[in-house]
Amino acid sequence: MLGSNPQGKGRILPADALAVAEAATHLRNGGIVAVPTETVYGLAADASNANAVAKIYAAKGRPDFNPLIVHVPDTEAAEAIAHFDDVAAALADRFWPGPLTLVLPVKDDAKIAPAVTAGLGTIALRCPAHPIMHALLLASGLVVAAPSANRSGGISPTTAAHVAASLGDAVPLIIDAGACRSGLESTIVAVRADGWQILRPGPITAAQIQAVLGTPPLGQSGKGIEAPGQLASHYAPAKPVRLNAATATSGEWHIGFAAIAGDENLSASGNLAEAAANLFAALHRADASDRLAIAVAPITDQGLGVAINDRLLRAAVR
Ligand code: AMP
Ligand code: MG
Repeated sequence: MLGSNPQGKGRILPADALAVAEAATHLRNGGIVAVPTETVYGLAADASNANAVAKIYAAKGRPDFNPLIVHVPDTEAAEAIAHFDDVAAALADRFWPGPLTLVLPVKDDAKIAPAVTAGLGTIALRCPAHPIMHALLLASGLVVAAPSANRSGGISPTTAAHVAASLGDAVPLIIDAGACRSGLESTIVAVRADGWQILRPGPITAAQIQAVLGTPPLGQSGKGIEAPGQLASHYAPAKPVRLNAATATSGEWHIGFAAIAGDENLSASGNLAEAAANLFAALHRADASDRLAIAVAPITDQGLGVAINDRLLRAAVR
């Protein structure tokens, strides 16, 4: 009925009730689907089903030491999976639904496939704000593991076309709700007995979190990599990336910001939210351009700019 491909591979469906119902059935049957969220497109599977979760790792080519974020419809569902202390409860209360992921101690009886947490004693939980992802969680009655819907290590997808280009037939169904509003992956915060720590900067800033909690973040733990957002190379285009480039050479595709026009501009007015929403699409276009390299104008390193520069730094490491 929907689409003509007999295998049902890689179909892109407009985001409506029919698509949500079909995706929910697919998830309940242990399949994977690509879904829009307010951050980037996610590749979703039933978090309690080991076979389904294995399909995410296979489709992405994701290393199995890299755990997944579990998406829940509400705080109650999250509390069935992880231990919430006062700090975690305050953050969920203030920022959910929204682009904040909490890393919390996982409960012994949580119905979560072991591969989701990659053997850690903690689990990453998020309650997404996007109406389609929310509708899918309700329609399926599941909590879903959903990393970004791209091949591991590549640029995150902010449109359905990005998902199709990166994953191709590895994903049978993509729900298309247009470009993601935020355009950057969620902020990841670890809540520990002695305080809180940002594992990955994102749309919700450290200052916003500190304003709720009243205490500054802990420094780097030195415990090694906890979130692969912390891996040096991630979100990487195929071409070399040069940062803080006020000008570009003829061989470079120049991504501008504010007064630096470039071949395209993340935000001519210097608006960081607009720049964040445009960032990954700009990197995709730069990668697809006929130039051999990419140069990026300096981006203000404050507020949302911290998360943008975090992604750019990792894009520049090869
Ligand atoms: P992605 O789903 O591609 O946005 O990546 C998910 C991020 O969440 C990765 O950086 C993971 O390492 C991180 N993550 C998931 N679970 C945990 C956990 N239990 N502790 C720390 N980081 C986690
Ligand atoms: Mg990712």
